[in-house]
Amino acid sequence: MAALIPNRQLFIDGEWREPIKKNRIPIINPATEEIIGNIPAATAEDADVAVEAARKALFRNGGKDWASATGAHRAKYLRAIAAKITERKSELAKLEAIDSGKPLDEAAWDIDDVAGCFEYHADLAEALDSKQKTPISLPMETFKCHVLREPLGVIGLITPWNYPLLMATWKVAPALAAGCTAVLKPSELASITCLELGEVCKEVGLPPGVLNILTGLGPEAGAPLASHPHVDKIAFTGSSATGVKIMTAAAQLVKPVTLELGGKSPIVVFEDVDLDKAAEWSLFGCFWTNGQICSATSRLIVHESIAAEFLDKLVKWCKNINISDPLEEGCRLGPVVSSGQYEKIMKFISTAKDEGATILCGGERPQHLKKGYFVEPAIITDVKTSMQIWREEVFGPVLCVKTFKTEDEAVELANDTHYGLAAAVLSQDLERCERMTKAFQAGIVWVNCSQPCFSQAPWGGKKRSGFGRELGEMGLNNYLNVKQVTQYVSDDPW
Ligand code: NAD
Repeated sequence: MAALIPNRQLFIDGEWREPIKKNRIPIINPATEEIIGNIPAATAEDADVAVEAARKALFRNGGKDWASATGAHRAKYLRAIAAKITERKSELAKLEAIDSGKPLDEAAWDIDDVAGCFEYHADLAEALDSKQKTPISLPMETFKCHVLREPLGVIGLITPWNYPLLMATWKVAPALAAGCTAVLKPSELASITCLELGEVCKEVGLPPGVLNILTGLGPEAGAPLASHPHVDKIAFTGSSATGVKIMTAAAQLVKPVTLELGGKSPIVVFEDVDLDKAAEWSLFGCFWTNGQICSATSRLIVHESIAAEFLDKLVKWCKNINISDPLEEGCRLGPVVSSGQYEKIMKFISTAKDEGATILCGGERPQHLKKGYFVEPAIITDVKTSMQIWREEVFGPVLCVKTFKTEDEAVELANDTHYGLAAAVLSQDLERCERMTKAFQAGIVWVNCSQPCFSQAPWGGKKRSGFGRELGEMGLNNYLNVKQVTQYVSDDPW
């Protein structure tokens, strides 16, 4: 397997470069616990070089290269990247599965989404050409006004490990479409496919410096971007704790940030649902990507009249989920990403037990797997709203359950969280779904489903899940500076 892992350096100014301090970080396959390769560990010195390359690339060749090029010109590169990624889909999916532990099928969907996201942003880049200059009507004829939408500059992109290449793409594609240049810092726990994006950029001839990729530890390679005076904006996805650090560092320079942070999202199941369909969405919504989804609907709020039958079904189905090495055919749940994450999840489960909750199923290492960071999907009942398992993000295959009697009670339970990323409601009564949609304190609401996500629709949270939106036209706006231009057009003196 080791031969499969490409041995890469940092991707800076269109070239592979050894990190200045020459350090590397081992890559551990979470399914086998074996070291299968390593990635370069960048430090602040490398960040300086990468940021300067990105800054030069903005206006190289008198500005013809990137920031001042037409959207249509940039779109050609984005489409070429999409085509290359599609060409390498099976290899990239395999690398993603080995590195992150997600089942191979799911990794393959991610790679399709990556290509689709680059294509979609190529469309947006083309459309931007006609929207770059917008006239504004003023109440005085002596003045004329228009608005220019310009690239914001050099962007620092810091991303997590749960969707390594996809989360990077959600930022790289709009940044490049808008005419910005970027320095990407992927998670040290899963960087392989992000480094391969560097190779793809090289192959399609992306101008040097437009995208730079720095792998390494957060405090060493990510923090210097947040505090760098030549980085014009930070787009961050990761935990709320790191989000606070990034925002604090960026605040010193009044640097704009968008923060896509954690969640503890509810799924409310009413008594009129088709139990089979509701069970499928409930399990998928929480256990997809081995339960490591920011928007996982990990708090199940189910009407008390159907709770016993519904939970019975969930437990039966849960016990049948195929847990195996992510590369094995039919794998539905792989290992969590690291030993640290495994320990953290197990601690959450034991604390829930200590606090009086009941583990209905799962929450242990599967007996047939002796190695790897595998956790059987857990369903937890007898949960109180004061318990840690109800309040904090586990980021693993753990579903906690509470019942409700009235719609008002369901709303209160759903919103009983500091987070506000997503929420789902399952019911055949669409008026009720609409009322719930309005009542949820969240950035994303799913009706009769959980987790579908499209490049066209804005993604992001409220409360401690962060702010700003990615994807869709709103996402592109994060990378554009709006410049008001007002001209005095009268011959009369002012
Ligand atoms: P994390 O916060 O530990 O790390 C995220 C990134 O930040 C990594 O690249 C890491 O190296 C870097 N980092 C760490 N410390 C840093 C510092 N001091 N300065 C700069 N960068 C630093 O998060 P994670 O464990 O990689 O990801 C899991 C978290 O991400 C979960 O909380 C999950 O909910 C969240 N997430 C949110 C979304 C969303 O769309 N809202 C999507 C995916 C994941």
